[in-house]
Amino acid sequence: MRNAPDIVCFGELLVDFVATAPGALGDAPAFVRAPGGAPANVAVAAARLGCRSGFIGAVGDDPFGRFLVETLRDNGVDVRGVRVSPRGATPLAFVSLGEGATPDFLFYWDGTADHHVRPGYVTAALVRAARIFHYGTISLIHPAPRAALRRALAVARDAGAYLSCDPNLRLKLWPSAKAARRGLLEAIRGAHLVKMNEEELRFLTGARGIARGLRALGDATGAALVVTSGPRGAVYRWGKIEGEAAGFPVRAVDTTGAGDGFVAGLLSQLAACAGDLRALTPDAATVARWVRYANAVGALATTRRGAIPSFPTAARVARLVG
Ligand code: ADP
Repeated sequence: MRNAPDIVCFGELLVDFVATAPGALGDAPAFVRAPGGAPANVAVAAARLGCRSGFIGAVGDDPFGRFLVETLRDNGVDVRGVRVSPRGATPLAFVSLGEGATPDFLFYWDGTADHHVRPGYVTAALVRAARIFHYGTISLIHPAPRAALRRALAVARDAGAYLSCDPNLRLKLWPSAKAARRGLLEAIRGAHLVKMNEEELRFLTGARGIARGLRALGDATGAALVVTSGPRGAVYRWGKIEGEAAGFPVRAVDTTGAGDGFVAGLLSQLAACAGDLRALTPDAATVARWVRYANAVGALATTRRGAIPSFPTAARVARLVG
């Protein structure tokens, strides 16, 4: 495929309506529209860092869908894998910032365009060409996108891509906690890299303490695991290497997209490596450097409102990393 991206992200693309004032969602005086969806954010954040990235998903045939596709394109993301679905509207989420700049969400997601993503929507050539295939779990909630993600994963695996998963637990969207757990476990099985936050690790392993959870999941999956802890940074278990990297002190105004920025930071470091990424055996210092870089991207992503406007360029990250 001509000009194929290195990193292809698969999943949801939606419009976040972000409250203009902090506080309870129902008290918000007004909302500002912002493009969102975790895998789409990763694609944009990676492009901002200088990677060639692409996105696979669907939007509704409506003004918000067109706004999202334009936003991806304007940000340098390859949109050849984005379908304008004849069925279902573009999904929406309303977001407010509560205590400590942690977002609260309300989703308008019933029957939306992404529910109609099916295996035939998967641009196989784009997946096959990718060195890194990144995905979440929201596509696993409904049957058609679930089949589509499974197909994309099969194509990516066959083509020898490095599989990166951010489970991104959104319990409100799943029919039950049990279904969510099953979905998350399916998603991380076979992944080479899994990025979680502390809540997701606890949900998956039931283990008390990050170190214990990481060991249990690492032994069960063999994947490189990274757990982010907001301002504190991240803890990881990468093969036999265990460690932690402190976060960067910044003045956080909105943490939306911090995790997605972190993922993009990490994937950009991997994408810079030559050869088959599945065969990489980085030493402890290299992993520490990668995670520190990802922390810097995550930290900078909190310093401006919204996810996409706040993702830093490689030059900005370099200034922070020093
Ligand atoms: P998620 O958004 O997936 O829950 P986190 O909130 O843990 O993820 O944030 C991801 C990463 O972003 C953190 O590991 C850290 O590097 C960075 N980050 C998040 N919040 C802050 C903050 N307040 N100050 C500095 N860095 C932050």
